[in-house]
Amino acid sequence: MSEPEGARGAYEKLTGELRETAVLESAGSILAWDQETGMPARGSELRAAQVATLSTLVHERRTRPEVEQWLAECEADPELTADEAIAANLRWLRHDHDRDTKLPTSLVREIARTNALALQAWRNAREASDFSAFAPWLEKVFALSRSKAECLRGGEGGELYDVLMEEYEPGAEARSLERVFGELRSDLAPLIAEIGRAERSDAGAGARVSIPVPRQMELSRRVAERLGFDFDAGRLDVSTHPFCEGVGPGDTRLTTRFSEDLFFDALSSTMHEAGHGLYEQGLPKEEHFGQPLAEAASLGIHESQSRLWENFVGRSRPFWSWALPLLQESAGEAAGSLTVESVFRAVNRVRPSLIRVESDEATYNLHIMLRFDLERALLAGDFAVADLPGEWNERMRQDLGVEVPDDRRGCLQDIHWSMGAVGYFPTYTLGNLYAAQLWEAVRADNPGLDEEIGRGEFGALLGWLRDRIHRHGRRFTAAQLCERATGSPLSAAPFVNYLKGKYGPIYGI
Ligand code: ZN
Repeated sequence: MSEPEGARGAYEKLTGELRETAVLESAGSILAWDQETGMPARGSELRAAQVATLSTLVHERRTRPEVEQWLAECEADPELTADEAIAANLRWLRHDHDRDTKLPTSLVREIARTNALALQAWRNAREASDFSAFAPWLEKVFALSRSKAECLRGGEGGELYDVLMEEYEPGAEARSLERVFGELRSDLAPLIAEIGRAERSDAGAGARVSIPVPRQMELSRRVAERLGFDFDAGRLDVSTHPFCEGVGPGDTRLTTRFSEDLFFDALSSTMHEAGHGLYEQGLPKEEHFGQPLAEAASLGIHESQSRLWENFVGRSRPFWSWALPLLQESAGEAAGSLTVESVFRAVNRVRPSLIRVESDEATYNLHIMLRFDLERALLAGDFAVADLPGEWNERMRQDLGVEVPDDRRGCLQDIHWSMGAVGYFPTYTLGNLYAAQLWEAVRADNPGLDEEIGRGEFGALLGWLRDRIHRHGRRFTAAQLCERATGSPLSAAPFVNYLKGKYGPIYGI
């Protein structure tokens, strides 16, 4: 049999090439996962060299002249582009290819190397709560991010921040986010203040349970499995900063973290990452590995999946009426006095706090807005890296009314900047907004959802998400996906209504 010719042939060569590049990239995913879960501290220099070499190889492959030729040949063929799925693939490939070819390989290599080393420097600096040890690395990261954004922007105008954000949330613009966030803040601030003044403002302060870590791990696995996470195609490990790595078809890795007396936090982390993992496992990777069709629509959509399981499911009464007996079976005496109501209140306690990942659903977005403003200002050079702790602490005081005691619990708490992920934070708040809107829609479509969740049955929910979100990969933009799944464009209203509906009765406001 002869090989197909013309545009079909070019498309096959293109997708074949992409698959091989994706295989190479998946080796990078394993390295990234290992760096957080198993690599010894002294391995960081070698790891930096490994990821720099691998990133260079990937970048060289992506920017091979043949890729441009095949792509152009496919784009010019009306028969090929009449296929909607192929057209979507080609559109994103062009988008990504144009970005890739604007970056010199030397810069890609330098960024990969610096990020790997900065990550280790951040880890040490955070441990010691010593911002001055991380500051030179942060300066490098922002300088390289600026160079990258300038290369990508080329001769066109526009904000450098938008160019970086495009990698995580295609189509998002800082100016419009500023408006959305401003509106959200004006709804959240009075709600949080009202909760603070409420007579029952200490609701949920009591429920704590101490469980040995190995049992927490077992319980976390049981819950993740029950939600639908396939452990034959994934695993769950421990890391300082929980994450999910979608390595490739048949391999999705989750991490979580445990502390003996903070089981609810650990379970939240696990459910969050399992939400990401369910999305990764639901993407059509077997069929389209290496193609945009097998990738997430955006990080905002990715985060909507994690937040939906973590918060909308994991902080609900129906969930706990199923999960509490499991917890009691595992924890024995320690959890004997808990009731569904006491756990529900404990996991929905609203209190301004220092750490983003431990914050409640209401104050969480204030943490994001702070990071969005600060990284945008840093990138624009509005203040120096050395002034970051001061700026951070002042904003925490203004926005959340808390005093930051040290940089470990202040500007050193997040991993993102050390990895060069500038422009990433806004996707978290977008994720919350998307999640609320999806939740409203899935409940409208499934009136029996609460009862199902109360029985520990999550199939209908997962099926709905698979159908509306997962299986489409990047076929639609985040905005289109939202509109198709829910019938309306993204709005903050479902999120605000959800919070008011939940906290009103808890706090008697
Ligand atoms: Zn997440």
